[in-house]
Amino acid sequence: MSAGVTRSISVRTAAKVNLHLGVGAPREDGFHPLSTVYQAIGLYDDVTVRRSPTWNLSLETAEHVNAEAIPLIDNIVHHAARALGERHGRDLVAAVQIDKNIPVAGGLAGGSADAAGALVALDRLFGLQTSDEDLLEIAAGLGSDVPFALMGGTAIGTGRGELVEPVDDPGTWWWVAVTSRDGLSTPEVYRHFDRLFPDADPEPKGIEAVLAALASGEPLLLARSLHNDLQDAALDLRPDLARLIEEGEAAGALRGIISGSGPTVVFLAEDADSARHLGADLLGAGHEIALAAPGPVSGATLVSL
Ligand code: ATP
Repeated sequence: MSAGVTRSISVRTAAKVNLHLGVGAPREDGFHPLSTVYQAIGLYDDVTVRRSPTWNLSLETAEHVNAEAIPLIDNIVHHAARALGERHGRDLVAAVQIDKNIPVAGGLAGGSADAAGALVALDRLFGLQTSDEDLLEIAAGLGSDVPFALMGGTAIGTGRGELVEPVDDPGTWWWVAVTSRDGLSTPEVYRHFDRLFPDADPEPKGIEAVLAALASGEPLLLARSLHNDLQDAALDLRPDLARLIEEGEAAGALRGIISGSGPTVVFLAEDADSARHLGADLLGAGHEIALAAPGPVSGATLVSL
């Protein structure tokens, strides 16, 4: 590094889909117990950090991203910096830029992805050498999906989703994520789930079918085993999404399912070509955003120093 050049560090971080999302009755702490299988898919945000005398956050957003829905003050990246700094007894002051491509409030965990990216980028920038174990613990304090965003690949999530364990997933799966600029609030979807299912089992539904399908490498088997307990609640709040699922399946998708708490619908396609055609067809039919992406991909990854 030559004198006078400000060192910057960029970390690329991926969106997730839930191949299985089993939701139990709320625990005493108000969280719902989850039994989930996450997969990181190839839709990315980049988090770039450099040293700065004052904290500064800037955003660059892709055309399909609703920038107005992203807070600049109470941003999860700010919480990540504070939590990492507290762990090391330091104030981590930096200029942070988020290049955002993951739709906001879409059920794709874009905010969690940015938090994971910020943890890794700031750790490098300040030479903190935080252990993986500590990073995962800090991540869990920031949000249920943040530990998975660090890890990437395919993983089982338990607890409220924050306890993650990698899963062998040798296949390459192709998805088309169809979303709109108007998000759905995750807490609102969970509240609606509680109204619809006041007698939900405390124990969330198991993940065996999805694990067997992943091991088979067969897209049709995976399509059949996709499951989301939040789907009824999300469809009740957004009935248009049921029509979207039918439309995508009629256009050749093996299966469409609500991603997480929605409103993104993810369609599993037979292969890369089918995913591209399906994406083009859905855009042609007037849907605002249809993004083809493979999975699994890596978690938070250093892309430049
Ligand atoms: P999840 O499935 O984890 O709830 P999501 O994809 O539905 O995630 P996010 O895109 O993570 O939703 O955003 C949820 C909310 O978090 C947004 O509505 C926004 O107010 C807030 N937020 C804070 N920081 C960020 C960020 N860096 N990017 C996006 N949203 C952020």
